[in-house]
Amino acid sequence: MEKKTVPELFGSKVFDDRVMKARLNDKVYNSLKKTIDENADLDEKVAEAVAKEMKAWAVENGATHFTHWFQPLTGITAEKHDSFISPSPDGGVIMEFSGKELIKGEPDASSFPSGGLRATFEARGYTAWDPTSYAFIKDHTLCIPTAFCSYGGDALDKKTPLLRSMQALDKQAKRILKLFGKEVKYVRTSVGPEQEYFLIDEKMYEQRPDLKYTGRTLFGAMPPKGQELDDHYFGAIKPRVTAFMEELNEELWKLGILAKTEHNEVAPAQHELAPIFSTTNVATDKNQLTMEIMQKVARKHGMVCLLHEKPFAGVNGSGKHNNWSMATNEGVNLLSPGETPHENAQFLLFLCAVIKAVDDYQDLLRLSVATAGNDHRLGANEAPPAIISMFLGDELTAILDAIKNDTPYVGKEKEVLKLGVHVLPRFSRDTTDRNRTSPFAFTGNKFEFRSLGSSNSIACCNIMLNAAVAESLKIFAERLEGAKNFDDELHALIKETIRDHERILFNGNGYTDAWVKEATEVRGLSNYKTTPDAMPHLLDKKNMDMLMAHKVFTETELKSRCEIMLENYCKTVSIEAHTMVDMVRKSYLPAIEGYLYNLAKTTSLMKSVSSNVKCNYEISTMERLSELTDYILERVKDLEKALEELKSFDSVLKTSEFIRDDLIPKMEHLRKHVDEAEMLSSEECWPFPSYGKLLFSVY
Ligand code: ADP
Ligand code: MG
Repeated sequence: MEKKTVPELFGSKVFDDRVMKARLNDKVYNSLKKTIDENADLDEKVAEAVAKEMKAWAVENGATHFTHWFQPLTGITAEKHDSFISPSPDGGVIMEFSGKELIKGEPDASSFPSGGLRATFEARGYTAWDPTSYAFIKDHTLCIPTAFCSYGGDALDKKTPLLRSMQALDKQAKRILKLFGKEVKYVRTSVGPEQEYFLIDEKMYEQRPDLKYTGRTLFGAMPPKGQELDDHYFGAIKPRVTAFMEELNEELWKLGILAKTEHNEVAPAQHELAPIFSTTNVATDKNQLTMEIMQKVARKHGMVCLLHEKPFAGVNGSGKHNNWSMATNEGVNLLSPGETPHENAQFLLFLCAVIKAVDDYQDLLRLSVATAGNDHRLGANEAPPAIISMFLGDELTAILDAIKNDTPYVGKEKEVLKLGVHVLPRFSRDTTDRNRTSPFAFTGNKFEFRSLGSSNSIACCNIMLNAAVAESLKIFAERLEGAKNFDDELHALIKETIRDHERILFNGNGYTDAWVKEATEVRGLSNYKTTPDAMPHLLDKKNMDMLMAHKVFTETELKSRCEIMLENYCKTVSIEAHTMVDMVRKSYLPAIEGYLYNLAKTTSLMKSVSSNVKCNYEISTMERLSELTDYILERVKDLEKALEELKSFDSVLKTSEFIRDDLIPKMEHLRKHVDEAEMLSSEECWPFPSYGKLLFSVY
């Protein structure tokens, strides 16, 4: 069979606009399009017609089942398959799928985390079709992207609040655009998430319980070589990885995912995939799908794809840069500086809205990326620090300074900039000196939020970002709508915003101690280092008020989410601690004992042969290893005691704080001793593949 070209392949498993246009009659197509573009209600008859064609298309393309595909608060996707079959009187079956089945599903979902939102006796949540994200076929199943709610209407997923946050931003951004004389159909936020991951050999993976149970290594001495030579970053891609990437791209393209850029990352065995950006909810769905397909395709190539934020100590972890912007239905990017004074004033206003949002809601952005895994990255001098600040680049910063101070910006005319009158001086969009240490960087026509962890859903941070920016825009709109002289008021507003929020702007090196000191002591920025530090701020009054005012979350949803996120942190770390105990008791201690036996036997044998041998190596190694086994035993007992104590707290917050302050330090302590023992023992007696083998065995 001849290989298909990329354009032939692309979207071949997606019920996309091309398919809809070709298969639906004009009336149905136009009505569905109105729902997709303008949020118009969906007619039942239209749903019926769409379902009929969707099923016919799916069956033609090999599908036998359908599922409502949703994103519960576990952070991964969920699906429950139903086949299309329905018995026919002649003893056979026909393939059926109704409009009702398309629009609404009722999964028995009592086992998903709900933070008490859904009493277990009312186990049925319901799923509702999100027509703005195309249906697709995965493994013979038609997947219909849906939102997941309780019968009381509370969101049980990540998609519902994301859609609500997009609506909030749409509403406020349109108010602002109206002030500039522009009526648009909609404003949507778009996201391009750059996904980092590790690929390791499947055989090595299978031998490591820590990787299998927790996604990261809990032990492992550093190999002689890590990432210090910078020889992996952008390096030539190894043949097995190339084969993986080729198949991955094809699978993603079939699903209509715009996989675009691929390269090796900083750490050995680390790689990145970036798609072309799309509308936020679609980008979220596609990123979830991308992560799933990556893991599947890796297995086909005898490898395992690790999405954990910190699979290996000592080399970089993985993040996911969230490139974010706002655009109108005409494709006009609102974060793109324009050509005319009028456009520039508008650009600066939207820019200021983001500056204000990031400053006012630093805590929400920080906690939106808080997980046990990501706690290892943030602030570890490889990823942005836990302190949220913004990088605008020197030129744009100088322009804002000039506006704030009414001082001339170094342009030809050396004039004081008057918004709405003067053209903004051109600033270069040079991307070569981009600041990699900044959590939130302006990169020419978009912002890049870099704190997100590699395994996180991108939904959470975009919910917070959209909502916070909607809030700034609302405050701006209220002020400008009542202005006597629009241009004067606008100028004043921008000046004030720069003045009031310049503390969040920082172009320097975010990795230095001096910055931490300045940020926290002089500027008063928050520095929440861990999940238990950050998460409770979800329930701060200012944050709840804002999120509720924009109808992004209800009070109960917020409380339940805070609970679920902390619970997730506690469960994750406690599984890690249990895995450590298991590995130490069952494998490490017996392995060291075996090696000690060898050493002792060799020593006594050697001494029995000759009284001249000193056995310095054998004896000193034996003594230190024996000491280490005693320490390890003590440390593992400490850990067991802490795990027992963990059960005694009456709130999840207290449990999480105990984990942060007591359990995690004990885990680190235990690891230190085991890693030292690894360095003293023979490779043959060591029970698990070393870091060297894990990081360097894929060719
Ligand atoms: P880099 O960050 O390496 O310079 P790019 O600028 O090409 O790479 O883009 C990185 C990601 O940002 C890609 O996923 C790209 O599609 C996305 N992106 C580019 N423009 C926008 C935009 N206006 N809104 C959201 N994402 C964008
Ligand atoms: Mg980038």
